[in-house]
This record gives sequence, C-alpha cells and structure tokens, in this order.
Amino acid sequence: MDFAAELASNWLRFLTHDLTRYAEFAIGVWLVLWIVLASVLRGRKIREESPPTKQLMTEFFTSLRTVAIFSTFGLIPYVLERVGILHGNDIATSWGPVWFWTSLVLMVVVHDAYFYWVHRFMHDPRLFRRFHRRHHKSHNPSPFAAYSFDIGEAAVMALFVPTYVMLVPTQWEVVGLFVLHQIYRNTLGHSGYELMPARGDGRPMFDVFTTTTHHDLHHAQAGWNYGLYFTWWDRLMGTEHPEYHTRFAAACRKPLLPAPAAISRPSAV
Ligand SMILES: [Zn+2]
Ligand SMILES: [Zn+2]
Repeated sequence: MDFAAELASNWLRFLTHDLTRYAEFAIGVWLVLWIVLASVLRGRKIREESPPTKQLMTEFFTSLRTVAIFSTFGLIPYVLERVGILHGNDIATSWGPVWFWTSLVLMVVVHDAYFYWVHRFMHDPRLFRRFHRRHHKSHNPSPFAAYSFDIGEAAVMALFVPTYVMLVPTQWEVVGLFVLHQIYRNTLGHSGYELMPARGDGRPMFDVFTTTTHHDLHHAQAGWNYGLYFTWWDRLMGTEHPEYHTRFAAACRKPLLPAPAAISRPSAV
C-alpha cells in the first residue's frame, strides 16, 4: 500500500472510531438521563424547560463535523511516528506503569489549563463571532452540544493532542483514556442534569471538579465559568459565577448553608 492509501485508510479508521464514540456518549447520556431516568432524576433537572428537538439535531450534526476535524488532526501524530520523528509512545512505555497513570493525570490537568485559556480568549469580542458563536447558540444545551463548535474552535481544540504528545512522552493508551474522560465529562457537562452529590451545606461533594451546573451557567450567562474539568482556574482568576454555589444547591434542591470555614468562631476579646 502506498503512503497516500495508508493515510486515507487510517483517516477512515480514526473517523469511524471517533464518530462511533461521540454517538455512543451523546446518545447514551441523552437516552439514560433524558428518557430512561427522566422521572427519577426530575429533582436534579437544572432548568424547567428543555431545548427544542431542532436544536438537538443542529448540535448533533455540528458535532459530527467537529469529530471529522478531530480525526483529521489525529493523523498528525500518526504521520510523525510513521516517519520516525515522534518517539513519545516508546519512551513513555519504557518509563513503566507509574508514568502511565501520572501521564494520564498530567494530560488532563494540562488540557484543563489549555481549555480555560483558549476558551477565555475565544470570548474576546474580536474572536467570539468567528470561533465560539456556534457553541453559545445553545443557551440551554443538551448532551449533543459537546462538540457543537465553529470550524475555528474545532481546529484550535483539535490541536491540543498532537501538540501535547510532541512535547510530553505519552502512550497511545493514555491518549485513548484521556479522550474517553474528555467526552464523558463534556457530554455530562451539557446534559442539563446535576449528578454531583451535594454535601450537607449544599456545596458540591468534590468542589475541585466542575459540575453540570457550573457549565450550564456558562451557557446561560457567558462571561463566567470558563473551566472544563476543575474549578481552580476560575477561582484563581476570579471568573467563577458569584451565584455558582447557590445555583448548584438549587439544582440539588438543598439550602445553601454557610461554608464551615465561614461559620464565625467566638472572637478573642
Ligand atoms: Zn464559552
Ligand atoms: Zn458548553
């Protein structure tokens, strides 16, 4: 097989795999939360109203276009390895299982930082129309909105994996797990249902992670909550929505009590 035919065959392989995975997660989350468990989870629905079917269809087909762009960018590391320039997979394999799991956590943490800053820049009025308007047409998103991106946004997001694996030795299996985690969090974040358990004071059980309410607020009121997996960038940069915890508690049907640290101690006199 000549090189062009090999590339075409691998692109088709990536595309089939990526489209199937997106469809499995988006349709799966929609089917489980919106249909099968809809009555059980009624008390965890963030908003009263649901988006119209037309919006879901648009999000789905736009996401398919994004997945095709991701698959195309996926050829970059394939070609670099094939021509003998990229050795990250072999190096990472020789570093053993500790690096396997460390590199997975590292990739997620670095991607979170990449997403926060790229996302925040895309909200600049000079970039928003070209890069990020499509995603925000979903004021009330559905799981299908996970990859509902303009072409420019899709390309910028697709650049992450090829760039990262060129800089940090990473096994392909780690990249596979990273992508699974990413699509899982992304579809849940747009699902409209708050599934994070709440603590007794109404705050998220694991407040370091973003919740569906966190990203839902970003769609409802852009300008806040740019983070993807973790809340630390929004807190560090002062961009967390001031009502985030109130909205989270409301989504969990709990009163928001003062945080333990905020409960006043007897003052020394
Ligand atoms: Zn945004
Ligand atoms: Zn979104």
